[in-house]
Amino acid sequence: MEFTDLYINGTWVPGAAKDRFDVFNPATEKVLASVASAEISDADAALNAAEAAMADWAARTPRARSEVLRKAWELMTARLEDFARYITLENGKARADAMGEAAYAAEFFRWFAEEAVRADGMITHAPASGARIMVQHKPAGIAVLVTPWNYPAAMGTRKIAPALAAGCAVIIKPASETPLTMLALMPVLEEAGVPAGLVNVLPSKRSGALVDHMLHDPRVRVVSFTGSTGVGRKLLHSAADQVLKPAMELGGNAPLIVFEDADLDVAVEGAMLAKMRNLGEACTAANRFYVHEDVAAEFTAKFVGAMSALKVGDGADPSVDVGPLVNADTRDKVAAFVADAVAKGAKVECGGTTPDGPGFFYPPTVLSNVSQDAECVHDEIFGPVAAIQTFSDQEDVIRRANDTEYGLVAYVFSDDMKRALQVCERLEYGMVGLNRGLVSDPAAPFGGVKQSGLGREGGHEGMLEFMETQYISASW
Ligand code: NAD
Repeated sequence: MEFTDLYINGTWVPGAAKDRFDVFNPATEKVLASVASAEISDADAALNAAEAAMADWAARTPRARSEVLRKAWELMTARLEDFARYITLENGKARADAMGEAAYAAEFFRWFAEEAVRADGMITHAPASGARIMVQHKPAGIAVLVTPWNYPAAMGTRKIAPALAAGCAVIIKPASETPLTMLALMPVLEEAGVPAGLVNVLPSKRSGALVDHMLHDPRVRVVSFTGSTGVGRKLLHSAADQVLKPAMELGGNAPLIVFEDADLDVAVEGAMLAKMRNLGEACTAANRFYVHEDVAAEFTAKFVGAMSALKVGDGADPSVDVGPLVNADTRDKVAAFVADAVAKGAKVECGGTTPDGPGFFYPPTVLSNVSQDAECVHDEIFGPVAAIQTFSDQEDVIRRANDTEYGLVAYVFSDDMKRALQVCERLEYGMVGLNRGLVSDPAAPFGGVKQSGLGREGGHEGMLEFMETQYISASW
């Protein structure tokens, strides 16, 4: 592996303490690379670099910033194969998933190249005073970005691109399981024209102390986090001390509802995407399946057929559909959810057994007759397990779907559009997939309500997360 040091001020450095940690290939359990671990003094060096770089970057015209981002999209798109290889090596996901992620990740640079020139303000007459109300958006300041392991490229670019479009400098702390993809992106950004110091990458095995230190530096104004709700809560506490602008993309517990009038082939195709994209290691993964009792047998048979047909193996093999989970903990947690559901009466329709290693594999698994008190109904499974329950009453299924502290995404399948839209509006979720198993799109505002998060990424809203609104009351 070529890029394994810290990236500060446009240079590769081993870090003040010269400490390192290992990154593993989850398909083989072998060490892939030894990566530099950032310490507090490295964070200070990155903050100094970001401060210096931002002054010039924020003063550039929006068009100049846009062109750098556009170039980053072109360069990354030309190297999707390389990025997909890195993603599969450190995260495990199958090649097709990794190619999909690399393309999705690159697309944020194109989308925010287009948004960089659209930070619209406004001017209007104050209704009573006769003053003019002038509103403009300005870069908020240095942003600390903390990302998870499930999308090593896309969760980073979804933050870096809008921050740069807005005129901010960033320091990114990638997940310790998967720092290599983000490090490999840095030469691409350099070639695109991103100046030294504007984007800094600090992998670390002391994430808590490192991030907490940066969130208490007065130069930092934004914290943008994607990860679990538990860690998000901690960062919100830290952010409170300096009243930082928080953007939180947290956990989910997505319901997938199949009504009796759904096109079942469409529902199965959507369910496969919603459950198996990224082998279920996605905040958007369908976690709870509610299928109307009149179509439950037919839906389950078709869905089990599709799940059973998937090939499990090393994601680097292009014929493989499902790679390993990211580590032993994640795999064991998935196995424990299945054991708990079975102990509470669930029937294993397919899968359900952990294979021998090496590699953290778990087969695509469908459970039917899952009881309401099974743990997987209340917690994120984060693996290739679908837990099916049935329903007969629309009001009852809406109540069950909303009965969670999470509110990221829900999926609804029905061919009765009037009913489907009525149900969508009643769902307490930031996003709904209607007759679709995929909602992620750089052009759309991605994010959750309740304990799934604060703020939105992508769309027009994504860049505003890195901007402050200034209002000038003027007379002339
Ligand atoms: P995690 O919360 O364990 O870790 C996320 C990041 O936070 C990592 O970089 C980690 O090193 C860092 N971190 C951990 N403890 C920290 C601390 N005390 N202070 C600062 N940083 C800390 O999450 P994960 O296991 O990497 O990812 C899985 C979770 O992410 C799931 O809950 C999933 O739903 C969520 N997720 C959400 C979205 C979304 O857009 N809503 C997208 C992807 C993943």
